[in-house]
Amino acid sequence: MMEKTISPIQEIKDEIITHAGVRLFIKREDLNHPTIQGNKYWKLLYNIKEAKKQNKHTLITFGGAFSNHIYATAAAGKANNLHTIGIIRGERINPLNHTLTAAEAYGMQLHFISRADYRKKNEDTFIKDLNLRFPNSYIIPEGGTNSLAIKGCQDFAKEIQNQDTFDAICLSVGTGGTISGLITGYHLEQKIIGFSSLKGNFLKKDVQKLLLTYSDNTYTNFSINNNYHFGGYAKHQPELITFINEFKQKHNIPLEPIYTGKMMYGIYDLIQNGGFASNSKILAIHTGGMQGLIGFNKRYGNIII
Ligand SMILES: *Cc1c(COP(=O)(O)O)cnc(C)c1O
Repeated sequence: MMEKTISPIQEIKDEIITHAGVRLFIKREDLNHPTIQGNKYWKLLYNIKEAKKQNKHTLITFGGAFSNHIYATAAAGKANNLHTIGIIRGERINPLNHTLTAAEAYGMQLHFISRADYRKKNEDTFIKDLNLRFPNSYIIPEGGTNSLAIKGCQDFAKEIQNQDTFDAICLSVGTGGTISGLITGYHLEQKIIGFSSLKGNFLKKDVQKLLLTYSDNTYTNFSINNNYHFGGYAKHQPELITFINEFKQKHNIPLEPIYTGKMMYGIYDLIQNGGFASNSKILAIHTGGMQGLIGFNKRYGNIII
């Protein structure tokens, strides 16, 4: 896991923000590591250490064809001399997309399984079969979320706290692993807002469940905003794409449409509609994921600049 740098926190200067009487900053975790980018670095950190400690020679994990987690695990395996196996949802489509091509180039062995089988990935028999088929492997769940991922994201929270303090910390949420680490890594008064990249109202409960795996405390220092999913996971609408392109032009900061673009759109919308107390110092976390943009643009005709 070498080459990690402490990414900068930059202020986003924008009339819209000044006019609303708040200040917005961004933690550029998209710049933390050349290949194991964003929150995935922190989620893998202690899992890799544990795999090595257990003398495992292979990492096995799961994901969709565009998964940032698959990409990051392949890169982390290569960097740490561990074999990697990616169990990919759906059929193999040739030529492989950018994410899977890169994963293979990092040495990951890809196994494509049907969507029906993929749904069983957390069942005991499925895991047992995997262990039989690939002995001496360390299994990391989909999205990389487990208790060691939470531990890594607690370190991430400490890194941010050493840099500066904020009234609100905002980040995108998928499985809830990263936000769980921030919630438990920050002091209890810190307000943390998760922007769901998925449609539905289940994430708050999911996060509460994950927090229980860490401690019996009841954490009330967070909320989940479910209003900016743009139709659901990996779905998008024209106003999201326009927002991402304008944000890049204005601030020279790239966002992607699956996670960070939705979060930033949500933050801007809330800022303009009194969602933050005046004089608030807000931090948006750029959780990375930029590798996904290549495949996205290929699929949708270069709509993101
Ligand atoms: C995986 C990912 C997330 C979601 O993280 P969780 O820990 O699953 O909530 C957010 N942003 C980016 C860029 C990601 O790749």
